[in-house]
Amino acid sequence: MSKNCAIILAAGKGRRMGKSINKQYLNINEYPILYYTIKAFSQSNCIDEIIVVAAEGEVDYCREEIVKKYNFSKVINVITGGKERQYSVLAGLKAISNCEIVLIHDGARPFVSESIIRNAVFYANLYGATACGVRPKDTIKIKDSLGFSLETPRREMLFCVQTPQAFKYDLILGCHKKINNEGIKVTDDTMVVEQYGNKVYLYEGSYDNIKVTTPEDLATGRQILDKNWC
Ligand code: C5P
Repeated sequence: MSKNCAIILAAGKGRRMGKSINKQYLNINEYPILYYTIKAFSQSNCIDEIIVVAAEGEVDYCREEIVKKYNFSKVINVITGGKERQYSVLAGLKAISNCEIVLIHDGARPFVSESIIRNAVFYANLYGATACGVRPKDTIKIKDSLGFSLETPRREMLFCVQTPQAFKYDLILGCHKKINNEGIKVTDDTMVVEQYGNKVYLYEGSYDNIKVTTPEDLATGRQILDKNWC
């Protein structure tokens, strides 16, 4: 039977947070960030299995303090990630089998909703590759190396891409192997399939689906929790 799987990435160092502990294990209100992220995918009927990718030296901590402690039974494995995000994704992809649709999600995005997850599966089935995101609220400029404005793209053409990004499993695995062999660097998984001419359908995410990156984001996270989970 083919399955829908989620890869949750938690192997980043999170240096911009300025804390010694990896940002995914910091608490927002009473639970760690990664708890909320895994819970969202665990509770979704669309998701059969979850792989968590943790940093070298943090696999046991993640398994004990998150997966076992909160009884996340859909998590089939916690594996070691790589130095760059794309290597962590490839390790995650190689750790799953018999998968039809795979969702790749940042562990640092704890406020992903059920409808975002459901739409990821739906559009990946329909188009092969999809990502959620939001329209930028600001005007975006392209800047030259001296600090002057070069260009102002039309705002209605712009889209801030978030995760989950979802794909037919065979497509994303094949493309990731190719970029790895060719030494191409990417910052997200949509770029991986685009590299080989595949189109990515972009659907509406949420302004709450933030990536917790800096200490200010922890305060924003508390506000999002208080607003939605009270
Ligand atoms: O660093 P950044 O915030 O862009 O990372 C996005 C997500 O990718 C985070 O959840 C982080 O843990 C993960 N990541 C990873 N392996 C890396 C780098 C980042 O799993 N080598």
